[in-house]
Amino acid sequence: MQIKSIRGFNDILPDKIKRWHHIESTAKEILELYGFSEIRTPVIEFTDIFARSLGTTTDIVEKEMYTFTDRDGSSLTLRPEGTAGVVRAYIEHALYSISPIWKLYYMGMMFRHERPQKGRYRGFYQIGAELFGSKDPFSDAEVITMLWRFFEAIGISNYLTLEISSIGDDRCRPLYRSKLIEFFSSRKDTLCRDCLRRLQQNPIRILDCKQEGCKQLTQDAPSILDNLCKECSEHFESVQKNLQNIGINFAINPRIVRGLDYYTRTVFEVTTKELGAQNAVGAGGRYDKLVEELGGPPTPAIGFAIGMERVVLLHEKAFPEDFKKQVDVFIAYIGSEAKKKAFLIADQLRRNSIATELDYEDRSLKSQLKRADKLGARFTIIIGEDELKQDKVKLRNMKESTEEEIKFEDIFPKLKNTCSHLSNTTSDFHRNQKAL
Ligand code: AMP
Repeated sequence: MQIKSIRGFNDILPDKIKRWHHIESTAKEILELYGFSEIRTPVIEFTDIFARSLGTTTDIVEKEMYTFTDRDGSSLTLRPEGTAGVVRAYIEHALYSISPIWKLYYMGMMFRHERPQKGRYRGFYQIGAELFGSKDPFSDAEVITMLWRFFEAIGISNYLTLEISSIGDDRCRPLYRSKLIEFFSSRKDTLCRDCLRRLQQNPIRILDCKQEGCKQLTQDAPSILDNLCKECSEHFESVQKNLQNIGINFAINPRIVRGLDYYTRTVFEVTTKELGAQNAVGAGGRYDKLVEELGGPPTPAIGFAIGMERVVLLHEKAFPEDFKKQVDVFIAYIGSEAKKKAFLIADQLRRNSIATELDYEDRSLKSQLKRADKLGARFTIIIGEDELKQDKVKLRNMKESTEEEIKFEDIFPKLKNTCSHLSNTTSDFHRNQKAL
């Protein structure tokens, strides 16, 4: 049997992971600044949760879910997206009874059986946020602003465009739906096979079709924005004003329909021209009916999901230099007594937040120094027999190519100011250790 991963599923190896960590920690920082807390839900749910929330006529539910029968006969599905599970948890734990507003975020793997290509995988990561309990257009603007600030914070917003629209609610959308059916029914000959089916089941999705013929046809189709009811129209106006007020640039694109049934009113997408066909980097919208449809109390909500792999691709474009693991100090030793001492010093430095490496195999000083170089260590400590006798070490500044002899007890005081990430650490762990 050939040892290989499943098609569409990727390993993220250590040489890439630093970049992932950087993006994830920036996201966490921003999300928490806006008052969002992390929620972790299982990667697997009863199939019904997704079928009911995404809609049975959506591409995901129709053909992309990883669904299987459990040993007890129940149908389970690997989550194709994050919102349904978060809503399930929100209802199951009656979070609404604890607080009227909940701001939740998640990061994790999603599973969709799509045709893999660059930027599109079967196992992929999303960062998502959901705000429950407010129908105020201010909350739409807040969530969209947070999404944009995240892209700014990681330095890829120059590659991106924000587009927003409204898809109305259950007062105005049915009317719009029948207008679309009327429009497309008289032009059936030009529609692709998928859209002929959509015409019966979900005509709004025709607006989203990528086929040239359908795309052309939709140019003249009635626009949802001309068909919003008064409340939806006012809501959309207000979202736009709130965004303009704080200088978030956006374009209005009435063709944003989103693939899922659960959206109402505000929908938005962040796209890029840099990634070919897979141009959506993040997307979301308001879903005021979903909590109720899944059995909870009526609860307005709005959220988004960002595709991590696509963010990483853009980040690599913007910052091609490697995100390397940072090693502050490499300790080279000669002899078994020095090795013990090296191990002790390494422990002390690590407990004080200084990233330290040393060899295991008692190799020659030359090969140890080679490894220090390869790791990009900023300092190398050398402990030989002579140094050991005098309670001293050689401290080499690798960048400046300088070397000095210092006492054991001076190692930490000497290094603590130069190893910058140390001064940034504020956790109790680090504070306590520094006091050592
Ligand atoms: P969606 O839940 O379809 O709105 O997706 C939200 C974001 O997840 C998209 O904008 C993409 O960036 C990302 N995404 C969706 N599907 C995939 C996939 N198959 N592979 C990689 N990223 C994806």
